[in-house]
Amino acid sequence: MVIKKYFSASYAQARERFTAAARAAAFELGQVVHPTAVGPDDENLSIDLAIHAPAGARALLIVTSGTHGVEGFCGSGCQVGLLEDAGFLAEAKRRGVALLMIHGVNPYGFAHLRRVNEDNVDLNRNSADHPALADSNPGYVALDPLLLPDVWPPNAANQAAIGAYMQTHGEEALRNTVSKGQYAVPDGMFYGGSRTSWSTQAVQSILREHAGGYRRMAWIDLHTGLGPYGHGEKIFMSADRAELERARRWWGNDVKPVHEPGSISADVQGPIMTFSYDEFPGVEKTTLGLEFGTYDALQVLQALRADHWLHRHPQCEAAAAARIRQDLKEAFYCDNDEWKGLILGQMRVVASQAVAGLSEGDPAVSG
Ligand SMILES: [Zn+2]
Repeated sequence: MVIKKYFSASYAQARERFTAAARAAAFELGQVVHPTAVGPDDENLSIDLAIHAPAGARALLIVTSGTHGVEGFCGSGCQVGLLEDAGFLAEAKRRGVALLMIHGVNPYGFAHLRRVNEDNVDLNRNSADHPALADSNPGYVALDPLLLPDVWPPNAANQAAIGAYMQTHGEEALRNTVSKGQYAVPDGMFYGGSRTSWSTQAVQSILREHAGGYRRMAWIDLHTGLGPYGHGEKIFMSADRAELERARRWWGNDVKPVHEPGSISADVQGPIMTFSYDEFPGVEKTTLGLEFGTYDALQVLQALRADHWLHRHPQCEAAAAARIRQDLKEAFYCDNDEWKGLILGQMRVVASQAVAGLSEGDPAVSG
């Protein structure tokens, strides 16, 4: 199957495929190497970028992968798929839309099979006023000992306690309290950090260098692990009503704001796309978190609990640790052709709609 060549088995292979595809498509390449962290085979870790800006381009489409580390197995495949899609690339060029792909925003998590970065930080909670948010999620602080008990797998008493919490508050309340982000427990889950992370700074410098000078900008940040299996949920994180209307015109009425009922995502603080609003105030921006569903929400949560338990218990026996990492990868990446085919098809549609939207009303483009 042709699908296989887009998706990779490791971070290192994904990097290679991404750079090879970008080179073949005559994109300009760039790389920001992590100053200290390395991969499991001592390989360099880097955020890689590929840009193609036709002369006179008035709009820019940014596609980012691996903001949540291990979710990069899907996002990288999507980016390689777009880079090898001659029809898509030609349409972007014809419509005067420049393309900027940023690969492996969190290369540490991608390489080491974690959702968080080298400092246990969730990069989509990191672009925030950390001191002001220190006490913003007391619910998480109270739940932390239950989520990450001393022993793993959880014993009967822990399972009963989690069950009782869900009985009282509901499953959704549990997921929201855990996933909305917290700034109080540095070795806990969905921790937003105490300062701006290396990855956040690196993405900011990439955008400062490559994203200026356009009239319009769209940003699709690729994720996995929430929502129905194989379905691309269109998550909208901005509070701008005009932007929401535009996003729905481009991508459909199933664009769902995180601050309204019906969103599969918690209303998070500090997503990485925040920077585009701070840095490019005069540019028309349209942003989307494209979230591909994998498995049942509680199954994904269980894999995340195990991953964080392991982070707190690094002395864990090697085989059990490897099993936990593999389970986490599987929770965020369904390694089969059917799922990948669903993802690639939806990616192509959403990216093509963005390219069309970015050039709507542009007198230089007809049709
Ligand atoms: Zn994610």
